[in-house]
Amino acid sequence: MTQAWANFFDPGHPAGRPSFKSRSRSRPAVDVPQARDLNITRLSRRWGAVNLPKVGRVRFRWTRDLPGVTRGGPAGRITGARLVKDAFGWQIVFRAERQVPAPVARPGPGLGIDRGITVALVLSDGTTRDHGEWLTSGEKEHLRRLEKTSARRRAARPPGQRASRRLARTYDRIARLRATAKRRAVDWQHQTTTELARTFGVVVVEDLTITNMVRTAKGTIERPGRNVRQKAGLNRAITGQAWGRTVTLLEYKTRDRGGLVVKVPAPGTSQTCHRCGHRDPAARDGTRFSCVNPACGWAGHADTNAAINIRNAAGTAVSGRGDLGAARSAKRQPPRAA
Ligand SMILES: [Zn+2]
Repeated sequence: MTQAWANFFDPGHPAGRPSFKSRSRSRPAVDVPQARDLNITRLSRRWGAVNLPKVGRVRFRWTRDLPGVTRGGPAGRITGARLVKDAFGWQIVFRAERQVPAPVARPGPGLGIDRGITVALVLSDGTTRDHGEWLTSGEKEHLRRLEKTSARRRAARPPGQRASRRLARTYDRIARLRATAKRRAVDWQHQTTTELARTFGVVVVEDLTITNMVRTAKGTIERPGRNVRQKAGLNRAITGQAWGRTVTLLEYKTRDRGGLVVKVPAPGTSQTCHRCGHRDPAARDGTRFSCVNPACGWAGHADTNAAINIRNAAGTAVSGRGDLGAARSAKRQPPRAA
């Protein structure tokens, strides 16, 4: 077994991944709790080497700067490692202790973000951040065929009999394509949230845990998407998890830079005019907002209007309290249009 792993990790050896007798649904992982004997070295730009107990010296793809190892890299030290198997094969993850300088408070310009119906994120400054489909049309077609194949094989299987090797391989291919899509989604979220955290000090988002808003394929209960094409299937499933992750990433990235994420309850943000505060469901028509107050008459993109309302819902609370730290308690304040 140990030799099988050593062969597998040896790039010059033709041996494939050693296989297990039983397939469990859990993710196999091996922990290396001590960093003492790892002896991490960099071999080239793309490759590094590490000592693993009972396996020996193995090479790994070098994907990021390691604290205390990369010259000029982040300060800190490696404290251990973990081998994890995912849909792409074995990955090595290093645990690290990093010294992070205390962030300097940086109010910066405030930003409201709304989850758009046709685009991923709509910003209160009138811009949007969007992404394409996570899989190419060829990959989607491939996935569709694999899913059909696996359904057929599953249906043909006598009850009680374990999955055939061919079916297991099909499952693996499906898992790899889904993991590819998710990896691209997370990558986009990282890039987008880093850019936003760099630019804006205070980022205001809708607190969905307390707004009781239910999103359906046709939009939301509050704002049904009329004639709006929805991103379907896998894309929608990923988007479902995506908002929570976007907020989590924004929270730590803004905090590292001395900024802050404020979550506000924002009922009615899509029906209220951000300029005059007039609220009327009739103002909204699909992605278009036209204020029905004749004295105002503001018209523009409905999601931008909502994003401005979200920003203002925290803005009034912040200025009312007179300091940024108090913005956290804005959670309990009713939203007001400026
Ligand atoms: Zn108005």
